[in-house]
Amino acid sequence: MKTFKIGGVHPAENKLSAASPIREAGLPKQAVFSMCQHIGAPAKPVVKRGDVVKVGTLLGEAGGFVSAPIYSSVSGKVTKVDVALDASGTRRPAVYVDVDGDEWEESIDRTPDLVKLSDRPNLDSKTIIEKIKNAGIVGMGGATFPCHVKLSPPPGCKAECVIINAVECEPYLTADHRLMLEHPDEILVGVDLIMKAVDVTKGYIGIENNKPDAIALMKEKAQAYPNIEVVPLKVKYPQGGEKQLIDAVVNRQVPAPPAIPINVGAIVQNVGTAFAIYQAVMKNKPLIDRVITVTGKSVKQPSNLLARLGTPFQQLIDECGGLPEDTGKVIGGGPMMGKALLSLEVPMTKGSSGLLIMNEKEARRSEPNPCIRCAKCVSACPMGLEPYLLSTLSDLQDWEKVEANDVTSCIECGSCQFTCPSNRPLLDMIRVGKTTVMGIIRNRSAKK
Ligand code: SF4
Ligand code: SF4
Repeated sequence: MKTFKIGGVHPAENKLSAASPIREAGLPKQAVFSMCQHIGAPAKPVVKRGDVVKVGTLLGEAGGFVSAPIYSSVSGKVTKVDVALDASGTRRPAVYVDVDGDEWEESIDRTPDLVKLSDRPNLDSKTIIEKIKNAGIVGMGGATFPCHVKLSPPPGCKAECVIINAVECEPYLTADHRLMLEHPDEILVGVDLIMKAVDVTKGYIGIENNKPDAIALMKEKAQAYPNIEVVPLKVKYPQGGEKQLIDAVVNRQVPAPPAIPINVGAIVQNVGTAFAIYQAVMKNKPLIDRVITVTGKSVKQPSNLLARLGTPFQQLIDECGGLPEDTGKVIGGGPMMGKALLSLEVPMTKGSSGLLIMNEKEARRSEPNPCIRCAKCVSACPMGLEPYLLSTLSDLQDWEKVEANDVTSCIECGSCQFTCPSNRPLLDMIRVGKTTVMGIIRNRSAKK
């Protein structure tokens, strides 16, 4: 069975919520919409205090080409345009809406009827990309890169295939798995739309073989789409990394940055993004909600919730039985790549794929010991880096050497830290090095 070639690890899967059907979360009393829910320029608020909005009303317009508009996920009154804490603990521009009822913009088609590409024969590539852009669709696997940018390859690059990332290799998370089981037809139309948008005739859906029910269902449904192939993959973390997925599915290797997947002819989109693209293009629905997994060993009811953007995380946890008494920390995302949250009042955003509540025992970090030069971190690194060296150089603040040792290739997967027998906080140290070097590179380019 296919998988990527370099490195990788096998963390315990802990997919506690895999059998929990998606259920709708309740409406919040107040929704808070960060204007920075994507990579790129923040959105610019277009509403003011006192404005009345509906579900689907534009709150913030895109702040540039690499940006995305933000829409209200609730109806009610704008109470302030201010700042709010995001998941990283930074204050960002935000719009606050006090919720009243649940009134939707009439332009949104809320019927469950499936609309296929063959039902809209006049939809061309430009129109599809424009609709995706206007709906504020971003990469929903967590990267939050504006989707229309990825679907507009730079001059000289031509897409040859679309690869859908349905790997969900992070332990605990099951939102994508449930989405495939409950909305396979909509996802396939979404893939068809992406293929039409970038003018390719081959699409792949990569799914790890720990989801045999999703593989079987997607294969059955994909029979109606001769150009879409479902590719079962051997379970290995981090197969959901773009470069690892491209290697696993089509056996092509993306060179080191600044090379990107399109340089080897591939466009990768998350399966949740394909679903959102279906809703945007065929149902006129902007990105206002998403499926999020709320889970943990002490959580009463590990769940997959369809929640409105802007809902505070605390409310989502309450809907799954409340915060367990033995909570050690709450992670936004999965245990490998996610980050600890400083506050549970932080609102859900377009990139919120999971909330993991770790108990005190799991959250406790073992004391780090000196490096024993076992090279396990080197064998585990899927990018062929030397994590022990990068972490030491970061600690010494030798940024020149950190850069020379390809820190920008690090995908922050945490495989090195997971595998280290000396419990060294490798990822934390490398992240500091990567952030600093990226800043140095940006300053250097700005001066040119
Ligand atoms: S976090 Fe970076 S250095 Fe560590 S294994 Fe992943 S890619 Fe390699
Ligand atoms: S895995 Fe840990 S102990 Fe082994 S070489 Fe890497 S940093 Fe050192």
